[in-house]
Amino acid sequence: MAYSKKIHLKAKQILAERKDTAEREQKLRHDEVCLKFPEILAAEKEMARTGAEAVKAIGMGADAEAYIEKISKINLAAQSLRERILTENGYDKDYLKTKYTCENCRDTGARDGYVCDCYRKLTKALAFEELSRTSPMQLSSFRDFNVNYYPQTTDPETGVVPREHMSNILRFCQVYADGFTPKAQSLLMYGKTGLGKTHLSLAIAGTVIDKGYAVIYDSAPNLMNKLEKEHFGRGQNSEDTMEMLSTCDLLILDDLGAEFQTSFTVSALYNIVNNRLLSSLPTIISTNLDPQALEEKYTERIASRFIGNYINLGFCGNDVRQVK
Ligand SMILES: [Zn+2]
Repeated sequence: MAYSKKIHLKAKQILAERKDTAEREQKLRHDEVCLKFPEILAAEKEMARTGAEAVKAIGMGADAEAYIEKISKINLAAQSLRERILTENGYDKDYLKTKYTCENCRDTGARDGYVCDCYRKLTKALAFEELSRTSPMQLSSFRDFNVNYYPQTTDPETGVVPREHMSNILRFCQVYADGFTPKAQSLLMYGKTGLGKTHLSLAIAGTVIDKGYAVIYDSAPNLMNKLEKEHFGRGQNSEDTMEMLSTCDLLILDDLGAEFQTSFTVSALYNIVNNRLLSSLPTIISTNLDPQALEEKYTERIASRFIGNYINLGFCGNDVRQVK
């Protein structure tokens, strides 16, 4: 994926800081032990000398092999002497190693001329962070979800006891979040305003983020607005945003149906939902519209995707904000 220049700059800066910190701390540890055990300096001098000799010997022709073997033995002896001084004095044998965050590229971001995985991971994380920062995400917890706000009497129309039903939904969401993997099922939370859909989807987001997954949470109006601006404006590339929405481990789209609907938003929604279904990646959609109203608003082609393929959770009760 192509990321913005800003993301690359930030990633390079973070790597440079990691490298700098690792090397600075190594130097402090080195100065500390050399002051106590100057023999370490002599051993290191020997290591450096034999290392350079071995490199020079490569061009020596037929005798090189025997010579390199001899030199390597001296080098290894110097290394183990240094190690022994450390361990005999209560230090870890790796005490003088530079502790890079990524051993593969030594925090340079490149290895053998290729971009290191750590750099890829870092740019991806930064891009998600950037996208999530622009959404109004304030995490709620499962613990704060109070089922006592839901009536304990049977609803004559549906025959459902809201408190019981909502206790089941709460438990389901908890189990879902605790056991989350990017192969989890998609969820459709529907029901009137103020029944706790946003609360529970944010609680799931919090748990899944804590597990280290890439989560994008946004409300449909906010997200569609952003996509439209990117698509019709200049600057930030909307393809990158679309790709992130299509590939993050969990996408939570809150308040679907509240966005200003255009042919652009409908096709963007279709693409996001469809791409994620094709990659078997989970999406959580919350909406005030019931399945029938969803079909009317988004056509059967789109609505059937999240009604048919998602686990449908119908929220019930009275507006919790009024009961409070
Ligand atoms: Zn690396």
